[in-house]
Formats: sequence, C-alpha cells, structure tokens
Amino acid sequence: MSTVATNTTSVGGPTLPQERRLVTPIPGPRSQEVLARKSAAVAAGVSHTVPIAAVAAGGGVIVDADGNSLIDLGSGIAVTTVGNAHPKIVAAVQEQVAQFTHTCFMISPYESYIAVAEALNRITPGDVAKKSALFNSGAEAVENAVKIARKHTGRQAVVAFDHGYHGRTNLTMALTAKAMPYKSGFGPFAGEVYRAPTSYPFRDALSGPDAAARAIAQIEKQVGAENLAAIIIEPIQGEGGFVVPADGFLPALVDWCRANGVVFIADEVQTGFARTGAMFASELFGIVPDLITTAKGIAGGLPLAAVTGRAEIMDAAHPGGLGGTYGGNPVACAAALAAIDVFENDGLIERARQIGDILLPRLTALQAADPRIGDVRGRGAMVAAEFVDPTTGAPDAALTAAIARDCIAQGVIVLTCGTFGNVIRFLPPLSIPDTLLNEGLDVVAAALTAH
Ligand SMILES: *Cc1c(COP(=O)(O)O)cnc(C)c1O
Repeated sequence: MSTVATNTTSVGGPTLPQERRLVTPIPGPRSQEVLARKSAAVAAGVSHTVPIAAVAAGGGVIVDADGNSLIDLGSGIAVTTVGNAHPKIVAAVQEQVAQFTHTCFMISPYESYIAVAEALNRITPGDVAKKSALFNSGAEAVENAVKIARKHTGRQAVVAFDHGYHGRTNLTMALTAKAMPYKSGFGPFAGEVYRAPTSYPFRDALSGPDAAARAIAQIEKQVGAENLAAIIIEPIQGEGGFVVPADGFLPALVDWCRANGVVFIADEVQTGFARTGAMFASELFGIVPDLITTAKGIAGGLPLAAVTGRAEIMDAAHPGGLGGTYGGNPVACAAALAAIDVFENDGLIERARQIGDILLPRLTALQAADPRIGDVRGRGAMVAAEFVDPTTGAPDAALTAAIARDCIAQGVIVLTCGTFGNVIRFLPPLSIPDTLLNEGLDVVAAALTAH
C-alpha cells in the first residue's frame, strides 16, 4: 500500500510551496545574468534546455534565482525519483559528510559501500547468487559491464541496438546509436561494437518474437555468436524515445544469449529504481539479466552507479581490474542506502503506477483528439508522446520542440528525446502532488492546441 502523501510539501525536499508561480518571464533577469556567465565560462558543448538558474527544488517544483517556481516533469533526467533534496537523503548525507568524505574503497574499505552492494544484489531481478561493483556514472557502469563480460567470455564483440543510448565516453559513444549530438566529430570509436535492429512496435509493426528473430539473424550473420561477449539493451529505451519493445522480444533475446554463452546486459540506468512501476523494468518483461547497470535514480541525486549480476560473471575480473578513485564514494553510498530505503518502504513503486494511471489516460485522450500524437507509450512514471505528421507518419521534431519551448516558458519543465527528436517524455519525481502533475499536463495540452 502507498504511504506517500501526494499533496503535501513534506515529501521530498525543502518546504517549498507546491505551486507553479511565474513572477518574471523565463528567464528572469537574475537567471539571465547567471546564464551570461555560463556562456562566458562554461564550454559550449555543455548545453542546457531550461534557461533558468536553479536555487532550490523539492516535491514537484524547481525554484529559480528570480523566484519562479516551475513544475518539474523531468527529475533531472530520471534522477530525483525519490524527490529532490529528500529529507532522508539530506540527513544521511549530512551525517556521513561529517564523518569522512573519502578513503578510496580500494585502499580502506567501509561498510556503506558493502551495504549498497548487498541491497543491489537483493533487489535486482533473479534469485541467484549476485555481486556488485560501484562506479560514478551510468557510462562508467556500462564500460565496466562490458569489461566484465569480455573477461568472463574471453570474447570481444558487443551488440547494441538501434535507438540505444549508453553514454558519452568513448566506448559508450560507440554503443550509442544517435550521431547528433552524441557522436558527431568525436570518433574514432571503440572497436568490436555492432548494432542490431530493436523492437519498435509503432514503427515496425512486428511482434516481439519476429523482431527478436530479425535481430538474432543479423547478429548470427554479421557478428557470429562465437565472437560475441555481450548484448546490451535498455528494457525500455530512454534517450532513444521511450520505446517499449513488443511482448516476447526481450525474453527471446535472453533465451538466445543463454543458449550461446552470451552475457545479457540490461542497461537500467534510466528505467531502474521504481521509475516504471517496478523496481526494475526487466521485471515487467519477465526477464532476469546476467548483468544490470544502474545509476541515475540510485542515490537521490548524488553521483553513483553500479554493475550487479551473477556472481560467477562478476568475479571474472582479476583483483585490481575493476574500480576507480571515487567509485562508491561514502557520501553517495549513504545517499543510496537512504534512497533504497525510501524506494522499498515508502510505497514508491505503487506511487509510480499511480502516476502512470494519470499520465497514460490523459495523453491517450489528447491523442484521440489530435492525430499529430502518433503514439503514447511507457510504464509507470516513464511515459512519452511521439509527434508525427498525421498524413505521412513522418516524425515532427519542429512541433515537438515548439511544444517543449512553450511549456518551459509557461513554467513546466518537459524533456524531449528520440532518434528523430519528436518525443516528449514525462519523468516526474514520484514526490510530485497529483494537482501539480495535472496542471503540468494542462499546460502541455494548451501548448499542443496553440500550434
Ligand atoms: C543516462 C544514461 C546513461 C549514461 O549515464 P551517465 O550517468 O550520464 O553517464 C547510460 N545508459 C542509459 C540507459 C542512460 O539513460
């Protein structure tokens, strides 16, 4: 049963009024000053989509330097799932930061890292012996999952999928599908990375088993199972457009991997930790991955990431082969333990489902009235609308961008995504009150009507 209060200011953050409040145009004068300094001091490659300088956040709002209060439907890309500055995380961080900030786990281990590993081994899918290793970012977790799979199998090739996103480091750029903005001009990329077609029901109209057979045939012909260390896939694609695979697609891939000694890696960096109405999205499709990568929602906003999986695979790397100076930092581990406690004991899985029960019907109703919404899809608090030309079905990135811009100007933070830039994704913090979520959707509907 849910124990989450949905209309109070006490859930997830400082006691901020849970309201959309615009006291200046966006950006206001103070934010403009800060953003001018950004252009002068910060590398142009680090762009931003919401032109504000944030000063506080909690519940379902982000407050800017001018006193505007914006409805947050993005959670900093699925990170502040428990709510921004959640009081339990603030307390855990404050306590730890006053004790010690770093020893380097590879030099002097500490209990909280081990407790995070134990928790991940327990809450990830699969009733098998598991182990974990901690890192700093999603990309770093993906890199390490590939290292582990290669060492375990003695093979080199890795298959990623169309529309996949796995990060911005060299190996993860190679795994990521989309050229602009993630890859263009940044090659050469890591070798032995291959791409297979995924299941995208709205665009390929294939059943899950048929889409899996298509991918497997291509992998067998172009890579060869005997060369393949791992396939890596997001159970629901994130940056690629919140693409939910057809039923049966992921189980068929897992079965093929098991039959061929290939490590199946689920990249749950975006889908993990209650986001989809299950602790991990793999559960929604009935699969048990060999390895799972996690980050984003894991620690309520502190940088932490993990690889968790079958103990015999995780133990393939020799001592000293895995790690990093900051991996599993004690402050981040304290935050993760508090966040996992909230996920498990404060009804957040149920809350994600409730949010899905608001998002999906409202977006489906918009779709019924407006054929420019070609598809509405997602699970729990990870839902998206795909915008198209109603006559040709062609992606409509211009409309998508215009709607997102209007929403932000009206004080509602929405994010876009998709290979074709034509998807608006909804990733609200689970601490958002229903009233604010509905108000945010009213603003989206008005923006759609205005274009
Ligand atoms: C965000 C993301 C990553 C990369 O995580 P970073 O922490 O930004 O390095 C990898 N995989 C998926 C599925 C993601 O959504």
